[in-house]
Amino acid sequence: MGRTSKDKRDVYYRLAKENGWRARSAFKLLQLDEEFQLFQDVTRAVDLCAAPGSWSQVLSQKIGSQGSGHVVAVDLQAMAPLPGVLQIQGDITQLSTAKEIIQHFEGCPADLVVCDGAPDVTGLHDVDEYMQAQLLLAALNIATHVLKPGGCFVAKIFRGRDVTLIYSQLRVFFSSVLCAKPRSSRNSSIEAFAVCQGYDPPHGFLPDLTKPLLDHSYDFNQLDGPTRIIVPFVTCGDLSSYDSDRSYPLDLEDGSEYKYTPPTQPPISPPYQEACTLKKKGWLAKEIRPQDCPISTVDTLPQ
Ligand code: SAM
Repeated sequence: MGRTSKDKRDVYYRLAKENGWRARSAFKLLQLDEEFQLFQDVTRAVDLCAAPGSWSQVLSQKIGSQGSGHVVAVDLQAMAPLPGVLQIQGDITQLSTAKEIIQHFEGCPADLVVCDGAPDVTGLHDVDEYMQAQLLLAALNIATHVLKPGGCFVAKIFRGRDVTLIYSQLRVFFSSVLCAKPRSSRNSSIEAFAVCQGYDPPHGFLPDLTKPLLDHSYDFNQLDGPTRIIVPFVTCGDLSSYDSDRSYPLDLEDGSEYKYTPPTQPPISPPYQEACTLKKKGWLAKEIRPQDCPISTVDTLPQ
């Protein structure tokens, strides 16, 4: 695939590069904010699963403009630095990472926790949905330690068969839970975002890192029958904006002339780097003897 055909096929990918965002995901957070005013009065925020960093870029721009903004970004992968963003490299499902994040907010809680985390998708839907739910619960667990009362939590969810259980868990902690689908998120994807506002844990609730999965301690009887929790579904992003499932000609309808723009910040050390190098050398499908494949000297990714 030529480098321009991706621009044609995915207008948000193209616009992200042209607007200096590290990833097209930036538009999802911007469209969620348009609908829910997520950044209003926010001065401290956590961006979980943040690499390559477009949500952190949005956060630092939006919060930075409101005074002494402060953003902590966390990811398994290394991320190029961003002004005003403190980075932690680690796995959010690990106790050590959770402790490091929480430590940072001791005495001055966060107003907003966002999580755009996605596991490496296997294509086995039940497994993918389960992994996604675990990531969301790990993020929620961290949020219960760092959020101030009334704070907001936004997390990617997969709208699979058991998503109602997740909504019920979220409703235990937030006065309002909605499911939102930004225009820049493809209709063909089961991805959506849980937007949870008004952090209000149950009376007497004490966040506990040793019980990361919150599904055992509370009564989820609401799940049964007609009283099961059904959250409102909201589509967001201006309906006149680009449709993420369509291809657009390279010269856009607004009259702007096409000029190829390279990615704003290529990933530092992506997990697929080794596979790309092997493919480039024609070694991907072949059996490789260790002496033929000097992994320590892998080339950098082709742009
Ligand atoms: N919001 C990001 C942006 O705008 O640039 C894009 C996030 S990307 C869709 C998903 C990220 O989740 C990947 O960078 C991946 O490394 C991260 N991730 C997945 N599982 C994780 C985990 N257990 N702990 C930390 N990060 C994780």
